[in-house]
Amino acid sequence: MLPIGRRWVNLGAGLLIFAAGTVFGYWLTTFFGEPPLETPAPLQELAEDTKDLLEGREGKEEPEPYPFPEGTEKERREIEGEDLVQLYPNLVFRFGDRDKNQVALTFDDGPDATFTPPILDILKEQRVRATFFLTGVRVEQFPKIAKRIADEGHSLASHGYYHKDYTTLTPKAIQEDLEKNNNVIARASEQVVNIFRPPYGALDRRSVEAVKAAGYKIVLWDVDSLDWMDLPKEEVLKNILPEVRKGSIILQHSAAGPGQDLTGTVEALPKIITALKEKGYKFVTVHELLGISPAPRR
Ligand SMILES: [Zn+2]
Repeated sequence: MLPIGRRWVNLGAGLLIFAAGTVFGYWLTTFFGEPPLETPAPLQELAEDTKDLLEGREGKEEPEPYPFPEGTEKERREIEGEDLVQLYPNLVFRFGDRDKNQVALTFDDGPDATFTPPILDILKEQRVRATFFLTGVRVEQFPKIAKRIADEGHSLASHGYYHKDYTTLTPKAIQEDLEKNNNVIARASEQVVNIFRPPYGALDRRSVEAVKAAGYKIVLWDVDSLDWMDLPKEEVLKNILPEVRKGSIILQHSAAGPGQDLTGTVEALPKIITALKEKGYKFVTVHELLGISPAPRR
Protein backbone atom coordinates (compact mmCIF):
# COMPACT_ATOMS: atom_id res chain seq x y z
CA MET A 1 0.00 0.00 0.00
CA LEU A 2 1.31 3.42 -0.93
CA PRO A 3 0.67 6.38 1.32
CA ILE A 4 -2.33 8.49 0.21
CA GLY A 5 -0.08 11.41 -0.87
CA ARG A 6 1.96 9.18 -3.28
CA ARG A 7 -1.25 7.83 -4.88
CA TRP A 8 -2.42 11.36 -5.74
CA VAL A 9 0.99 12.15 -7.18
CA ASN A 10 0.88 9.01 -9.36
CA LEU A 11 -2.66 9.84 -10.57
CA GLY A 12 -1.65 13.41 -11.36
CA ALA A 13 1.42 12.24 -13.31
CA GLY A 14 -0.74 9.76 -15.27
CA LEU A 15 -3.24 12.45 -16.26
CA LEU A 16 -0.42 14.78 -17.27
CA ILE A 17 1.16 12.13 -19.56
CA PHE A 18 -2.28 11.37 -21.13
CA ALA A 19 -2.99 15.05 -21.79
CA ALA A 20 0.49 15.57 -23.27
CA GLY A 21 0.01 12.52 -25.52
CA THR A 22 -3.34 13.86 -26.80
CA VAL A 23 -1.92 17.32 -27.55
CA PHE A 24 1.14 15.82 -29.27
CA GLY A 25 -1.08 13.54 -31.40
CA TYR A 26 -3.31 16.47 -32.42
CA TRP A 27 -0.24 18.52 -33.33
CA LEU A 28 1.15 15.62 -35.43
CA THR A 29 -2.16 15.28 -37.32
CA THR A 30 -2.56 18.98 -38.05
CA PHE A 31 1.08 19.42 -38.95
CA PHE A 32 1.46 16.47 -41.31
CA GLY A 33 -2.16 16.30 -42.45
CA GLU A 34 -4.35 13.21 -42.62
CA PRO A 35 -2.27 10.16 -43.44
CA PRO A 36 -3.50 8.70 -46.82
CA LEU A 37 -5.73 5.63 -46.44
CA GLU A 38 -4.28 2.49 -47.92
CA THR A 39 -6.55 1.48 -50.86
CA PRO A 40 -6.21 -2.10 -52.10
CA ALA A 41 -5.23 -2.37 -55.78
CA PRO A 42 -8.50 -3.94 -57.08
CA LEU A 43 -10.56 -1.15 -55.57
CA GLN A 44 -8.38 1.47 -57.22
CA GLU A 45 -8.86 -0.25 -60.59
CA LEU A 46 -12.62 -0.39 -60.06
CA ALA A 47 -12.64 3.30 -59.20
CA GLU A 48 -10.78 4.09 -62.45
CA ASP A 49 -13.24 1.94 -64.50
CA THR A 50 -16.24 3.57 -62.87
CA LYS A 51 -14.72 7.00 -63.53
CA ASP A 52 -14.32 6.14 -67.22
CA LEU A 53 -17.90 4.89 -67.41
CA LEU A 54 -19.26 8.00 -65.77
CA GLU A 55 -17.18 10.29 -67.99
CA GLY A 56 -18.38 8.33 -71.05
CA ARG A 57 -21.99 8.66 -69.99
CA GLU A 58 -21.70 12.40 -69.47
CA GLY A 59 -20.93 12.91 -73.15
CA LYS A 60 -24.10 11.09 -74.29
CA GLU A 61 -27.61 12.49 -74.54
CA GLU A 62 -30.15 11.47 -71.96
CA PRO A 63 -32.67 9.01 -73.47
CA GLU A 64 -36.23 10.22 -74.02
CA PRO A 65 -38.35 9.45 -70.96
CA TYR A 66 -40.91 6.69 -71.51
CA PRO A 67 -44.44 6.72 -70.15
CA PHE A 68 -43.61 3.22 -68.81
CA PRO A 69 -40.54 3.28 -66.57
CA GLU A 70 -39.43 -0.18 -67.69
CA GLY A 71 -39.80 0.57 -71.41
CA THR A 72 -42.64 -0.10 -73.81
CA GLU A 73 -44.49 -3.37 -74.06
CA LYS A 74 -42.96 -3.86 -77.48
CA GLU A 75 -39.39 -3.64 -76.26
CA ARG A 76 -39.85 -5.95 -73.31
CA ARG A 77 -41.70 -8.53 -75.32
CA GLU A 78 -39.20 -8.61 -78.15
CA ILE A 79 -36.23 -9.10 -75.84
CA GLU A 80 -37.88 -12.05 -74.08
CA GLY A 81 -39.05 -13.55 -77.35
CA GLU A 82 -35.63 -13.24 -78.96
CA ASP A 83 -33.92 -15.17 -76.17
CA LEU A 84 -36.42 -18.01 -76.21
CA VAL A 85 -36.34 -18.24 -80.02
CA GLN A 86 -32.60 -18.72 -79.77
CA LEU A 87 -32.94 -21.29 -77.00
CA TYR A 88 -35.71 -23.25 -78.77
CA PRO A 89 -35.17 -22.71 -82.50
CA ASN A 90 -37.64 -25.36 -83.68
CA LEU A 91 -40.26 -24.66 -81.08
CA VAL A 92 -40.59 -20.90 -80.52
CA PHE A 93 -41.06 -18.63 -83.55
CA ARG A 94 -41.27 -14.90 -84.06
CA PHE A 95 -41.27 -14.85 -87.86
CA GLY A 96 -41.04 -17.08 -90.89
CA ASP A 97 -38.72 -17.31 -93.88
CA ARG A 98 -37.05 -13.92 -94.49
CA ASP A 99 -36.60 -14.80 -98.17
CA LYS A 100 -40.24 -15.39 -98.99
CA ASN A 101 -42.65 -12.57 -99.79
CA GLN A 102 -45.28 -13.74 -97.34
CA VAL A 103 -46.66 -12.47 -94.05
CA ALA A 104 -49.20 -13.67 -91.48
CA LEU A 105 -51.94 -11.59 -89.88
CA THR A 106 -52.76 -12.82 -86.38
CA PHE A 107 -55.60 -11.85 -84.05
CA ASP A 108 -55.57 -12.62 -80.33
CA ASP A 109 -58.14 -12.82 -77.51
CA GLY A 110 -61.26 -13.61 -79.57
CA PRO A 111 -63.80 -14.47 -80.49
CA ASP A 112 -66.30 -11.78 -79.59
CA ALA A 113 -69.48 -10.42 -81.16
CA THR A 114 -68.24 -6.83 -81.58
CA PHE A 115 -64.89 -6.78 -83.38
CA THR A 116 -64.35 -10.35 -84.65
CA PRO A 117 -67.29 -10.33 -87.13
CA PRO A 118 -66.25 -7.10 -88.94
CA ILE A 119 -62.65 -8.37 -89.05
CA LEU A 120 -63.91 -11.60 -90.64
CA ASP A 121 -65.99 -9.58 -93.13
CA ILE A 122 -62.93 -7.59 -94.25
CA LEU A 123 -60.75 -10.71 -94.55
CA LYS A 124 -63.45 -12.40 -96.62
CA GLU A 125 -63.88 -9.42 -98.89
CA GLN A 126 -60.11 -9.17 -99.42
CA ARG A 127 -59.74 -12.95 -99.80
CA VAL A 128 -57.12 -13.08 -97.06
CA ARG A 129 -56.65 -15.89 -94.57
CA ALA A 130 -55.38 -15.12 -91.08
CA THR A 131 -54.71 -16.91 -87.78
CA PHE A 132 -56.90 -16.47 -84.70
CA PHE A 133 -55.45 -17.23 -81.26
CA LEU A 134 -58.59 -18.06 -79.31
CA THR A 135 -59.30 -18.06 -75.58
CA GLY A 136 -61.64 -20.77 -74.31
CA VAL A 137 -63.68 -18.53 -72.02
CA ARG A 138 -64.69 -16.49 -75.07
CA VAL A 139 -65.13 -19.49 -77.37
CA GLU A 140 -67.70 -20.76 -74.84
CA GLN A 141 -69.49 -17.40 -75.04
CA PHE A 142 -69.37 -17.14 -78.84
CA PRO A 143 -69.08 -20.68 -80.25
CA LYS A 144 -70.76 -19.77 -83.55
CA ILE A 145 -68.18 -17.10 -84.26
CA ALA A 146 -65.39 -19.59 -83.51
CA LYS A 147 -67.06 -21.93 -86.00
CA ARG A 148 -67.31 -19.14 -88.56
CA ILE A 149 -63.54 -18.44 -88.23
CA ALA A 150 -62.78 -22.10 -88.98
CA ASP A 151 -65.36 -22.36 -91.79
CA GLU A 152 -63.93 -19.34 -93.59
CA GLY A 153 -60.54 -21.03 -93.89
CA HIS A 154 -58.58 -19.25 -91.19
CA SER A 155 -56.15 -21.05 -88.91
CA LEU A 156 -57.23 -21.56 -85.33
CA ALA A 157 -54.68 -21.53 -82.55
CA SER A 158 -54.62 -21.51 -78.76
CA HIS A 159 -54.26 -18.49 -76.53
CA GLY A 160 -55.05 -20.48 -73.37
CA TYR A 161 -58.45 -21.13 -71.80
CA TYR A 162 -58.34 -18.48 -69.07
CA HIS A 163 -55.87 -16.05 -70.71
CA LYS A 164 -53.46 -16.51 -67.83
CA ASP A 165 -49.81 -15.59 -67.51
CA TYR A 166 -48.18 -19.01 -67.96
CA THR A 167 -45.04 -17.98 -66.11
CA THR A 168 -47.14 -17.96 -62.92
CA LEU A 169 -48.61 -21.47 -63.46
CA THR A 170 -47.24 -24.90 -62.62
CA PRO A 171 -46.45 -27.18 -65.59
CA LYS A 172 -49.51 -29.24 -64.66
CA ALA A 173 -51.78 -26.17 -64.62
CA ILE A 174 -50.37 -25.10 -68.01
CA GLN A 175 -51.17 -28.46 -69.56
CA GLU A 176 -54.67 -28.45 -68.05
CA ASP A 177 -55.33 -24.94 -69.38
CA LEU A 178 -54.13 -25.94 -72.88
CA GLU A 179 -56.17 -29.14 -72.88
CA LYS A 180 -59.29 -27.37 -71.69
CA ASN A 181 -58.91 -24.73 -74.39
CA ASN A 182 -58.33 -27.34 -77.08
CA ASN A 183 -61.49 -29.21 -76.06
CA VAL A 184 -63.61 -26.07 -76.07
CA ILE A 185 -62.29 -24.98 -79.49
CA ALA A 186 -62.75 -28.48 -80.94
CA ARG A 187 -66.32 -28.66 -79.62
CA ALA A 188 -67.20 -25.32 -81.23
CA SER A 189 -65.28 -25.59 -84.50
CA GLU A 190 -64.39 -29.26 -85.00
CA GLN A 191 -60.78 -28.09 -85.22
CA VAL A 192 -57.92 -29.15 -82.97
CA VAL A 193 -55.19 -26.60 -82.25
CA ASN A 194 -51.46 -27.26 -82.15
CA ILE A 195 -50.02 -23.75 -82.02
CA PHE A 196 -50.01 -21.63 -78.87
CA ARG A 197 -49.36 -17.97 -78.20
CA PRO A 198 -48.80 -16.99 -74.55
CA PRO A 199 -51.13 -14.35 -73.08
CA TYR A 200 -49.16 -11.12 -72.51
CA GLY A 201 -46.31 -12.73 -74.43
CA ALA A 202 -45.25 -14.00 -71.00
CA LEU A 203 -42.93 -16.98 -71.28
CA ASP A 204 -40.00 -18.47 -69.47
CA ARG A 205 -38.07 -21.69 -69.92
CA ARG A 206 -40.27 -23.64 -67.55
CA SER A 207 -43.51 -22.63 -69.30
CA VAL A 208 -41.93 -23.29 -72.72
CA GLU A 209 -41.04 -26.80 -71.58
CA ALA A 210 -44.59 -27.40 -70.34
CA VAL A 211 -46.15 -26.17 -73.61
CA LYS A 212 -43.67 -28.27 -75.57
CA ALA A 213 -44.56 -31.36 -73.53
CA ALA A 214 -48.23 -30.78 -74.44
CA GLY A 215 -47.27 -30.95 -78.13
CA TYR A 216 -47.64 -27.31 -79.19
CA LYS A 217 -45.43 -24.99 -81.19
CA ILE A 218 -45.17 -21.48 -79.75
CA VAL A 219 -45.73 -18.49 -82.01
CA LEU A 220 -44.86 -14.95 -80.96
CA TRP A 221 -44.64 -12.04 -83.42
CA ASP A 222 -42.18 -9.54 -84.87
CA VAL A 223 -44.65 -6.74 -85.68
CA ASP A 224 -46.79 -5.45 -82.81
CA SER A 225 -49.75 -3.19 -83.62
CA LEU A 226 -50.09 -2.29 -79.91
CA ASP A 227 -53.79 -2.04 -80.78
CA TRP A 228 -54.78 -3.15 -77.27
CA MET A 229 -53.91 0.41 -76.21
CA ASP A 230 -57.10 1.62 -77.99
CA LEU A 231 -55.04 3.26 -80.72
CA PRO A 232 -56.73 5.12 -83.60
CA LYS A 233 -56.44 3.72 -87.12
CA GLU A 234 -53.47 5.97 -88.02
CA GLU A 235 -51.43 4.75 -85.04
CA VAL A 236 -52.19 1.11 -85.84
CA LEU A 237 -51.05 1.66 -89.43
CA LYS A 238 -47.89 3.42 -88.25
CA ASN A 239 -47.04 0.54 -85.91
CA ILE A 240 -47.49 -2.08 -88.61
CA LEU A 241 -46.70 -0.92 -92.15
CA PRO A 242 -43.12 0.37 -91.76
CA GLU A 243 -42.19 -2.67 -89.63
CA VAL A 244 -43.32 -5.47 -91.95
CA ARG A 245 -40.61 -7.55 -93.63
CA LYS A 246 -40.62 -10.85 -95.48
CA GLY A 247 -41.84 -13.56 -93.12
CA SER A 248 -43.35 -11.14 -90.58
CA ILE A 249 -45.98 -12.23 -88.07
CA ILE A 250 -48.25 -9.28 -87.31
CA LEU A 251 -49.98 -9.10 -83.93
CA GLN A 252 -53.44 -7.58 -83.59
CA HIS A 253 -56.50 -8.35 -81.46
CA SER A 254 -60.00 -9.41 -82.46
CA ALA A 255 -61.63 -8.94 -79.07
CA ALA A 256 -61.22 -6.42 -76.31
CA GLY A 257 -61.56 -6.34 -72.55
CA PRO A 258 -64.23 -4.30 -70.77
CA GLY A 259 -63.99 -0.66 -71.79
CA GLN A 260 -61.43 -1.40 -74.51
CA ASP A 261 -62.01 -0.30 -78.08
CA LEU A 262 -60.54 -2.01 -81.14
CA THR A 263 -62.19 0.28 -83.68
CA GLY A 264 -58.71 1.33 -84.83
CA THR A 265 -57.86 -2.30 -85.63
CA VAL A 266 -60.98 -2.79 -87.73
CA GLU A 267 -60.60 0.54 -89.55
CA ALA A 268 -56.89 -0.01 -90.27
CA LEU A 269 -57.28 -3.55 -91.60
CA PRO A 270 -58.37 -2.84 -95.21
CA LYS A 271 -55.51 -0.36 -95.64
CA ILE A 272 -52.97 -2.80 -94.11
CA ILE A 273 -54.05 -5.49 -96.55
CA THR A 274 -54.06 -3.32 -99.66
CA ALA A 275 -50.77 -1.60 -98.79
CA LEU A 276 -48.98 -4.92 -98.20
CA LYS A 277 -50.53 -6.50 -101.29
CA GLU A 278 -49.20 -3.55 -103.30
CA LYS A 279 -45.73 -4.29 -101.92
CA GLY A 280 -46.07 -7.83 -103.25
CA TYR A 281 -46.73 -9.66 -99.99
CA LYS A 282 -48.91 -12.73 -99.92
CA PHE A 283 -51.03 -13.37 -96.82
CA VAL A 284 -50.75 -16.85 -95.35
CA THR A 285 -51.74 -18.51 -92.08
CA VAL A 286 -49.13 -19.04 -89.38
CA HIS A 287 -49.22 -22.76 -90.20
CA GLU A 288 -48.32 -22.03 -93.82
CA LEU A 289 -45.74 -19.40 -92.91
CA LEU A 290 -43.87 -21.74 -90.56
CA GLY A 291 -44.52 -25.02 -92.38
CA ILE A 292 -46.50 -26.49 -89.49
CA SER A 293 -49.21 -29.02 -90.45
CA PRO A 294 -52.60 -28.13 -89.00
CA ALA A 295 -53.91 -30.68 -86.49
CA PRO A 296 -56.51 -33.03 -87.99
CA ARG A 297 -60.18 -32.09 -87.59
CA ARG A 298 -62.24 -33.86 -84.96
ZN1 LIG B 1 -54.10 -11.98 -75.21
